[in-house]
Amino acid sequence: MDQPHSPLSSTAIPDEQFASDNYAGICPEAMSAMEAANRGSAPSYGEDPWTAKAAGLFRELFETDCEIFFAFNGTAANSLALSALCQSYHGVICAASSHVETDECGAPEFFSNGSKLLTIASENGKILPEAVRELALRRTDIHFPKPKVVTLSQSTETGCVYSADELSALSATIRELGMHLHMDGARFSNACASLRCSPAEITWKAGVDVLCFGGTKNGMAVGEAIVFFKKELAVDFEYRCKQAGQLASKMRFLAAPWIGMFESGAWLRNAAHANACAQHLLSRLRGAKGVETLFPVQANTVFLKAAPSTLQALRDRGWHFYTFIGGGARFMFSWNSSIARVDQLADDILDVTR
Ligand SMILES: *Cc1c(COP(=O)(O)O)cnc(C)c1O
Repeated sequence: MDQPHSPLSSTAIPDEQFASDNYAGICPEAMSAMEAANRGSAPSYGEDPWTAKAAGLFRELFETDCEIFFAFNGTAANSLALSALCQSYHGVICAASSHVETDECGAPEFFSNGSKLLTIASENGKILPEAVRELALRRTDIHFPKPKVVTLSQSTETGCVYSADELSALSATIRELGMHLHMDGARFSNACASLRCSPAEITWKAGVDVLCFGGTKNGMAVGEAIVFFKKELAVDFEYRCKQAGQLASKMRFLAAPWIGMFESGAWLRNAAHANACAQHLLSRLRGAKGVETLFPVQANTVFLKAAPSTLQALRDRGWHFYTFIGGGARFMFSWNSSIARVDQLADDILDVTR
């Protein structure tokens, strides 16, 4: 008799989908670091050797002395980082399409006790200096929240990356206006792999004050690191983490995977693989009629614009994807995306648009 098809049955391995990069599991390097940290016991609340070692590796990777904190997810990391940069009467400038605005359920406002997100238009998800200046100077009276922070996503929600020069130009404007620069790096590794530059070049050397570095989408089970390049901004930050329920008592399991990722180079290798899968899909679709990309493909994402009937035909063939950004179908690749499966997707897209 046929077994009922259940995702929980150990024999039923569902076909790989490219709806999001957080569909992927845990990469071996992160897993073995967790296992290593699980041998024996260790002090709690971050007083363990794994946490200290992970923080040291961040300082090495970024080639600077910085303050590191570990949180469970990106919403918490972003919200707490922003709350550290703002008073409740301040404003946070962000792209209208940004995760902090569209996907964090008001957490940045909640954790900052009311700092208002001020949205601006962006280009391929990227914030431009002129737009920041325009908004910051439009209202300087006491009745409008005082702009204090700009937050940007690297890579962007639309799969584009800011170059080091673009970041430097943006941060020069931000500094001139007396504001801080926060980077939502849920896909920071993908940006590093895409730009082939050092983490330092696209963060503190380009004027970024605080980075939220995403581990989850990079191949870890869970966890984001908050990296303060301006250490004075991190004063008392551990209290914010604790109050927000982000101080893990078994902190070593949030910290150790980073050791595995950095020591093995998996952080960059995983991201480069995910980016290469996006380029592979793009190259397979070159010349196809009836589909076009919505945004430049610079990281691990391809957004396809196609007729609703085409998107339905892909769904009918069992493909899962989101259309919440710009109405296009988003295909997003991860550390373990298989090229053979990307080829199956390409074959189906070519087939339904023939
Ligand atoms: C995934 C993501 C986050 C983090 O989301 P969580 O679900 O809170 O971990 C943050 N920013 C961007 C741009 C993301 O894509």
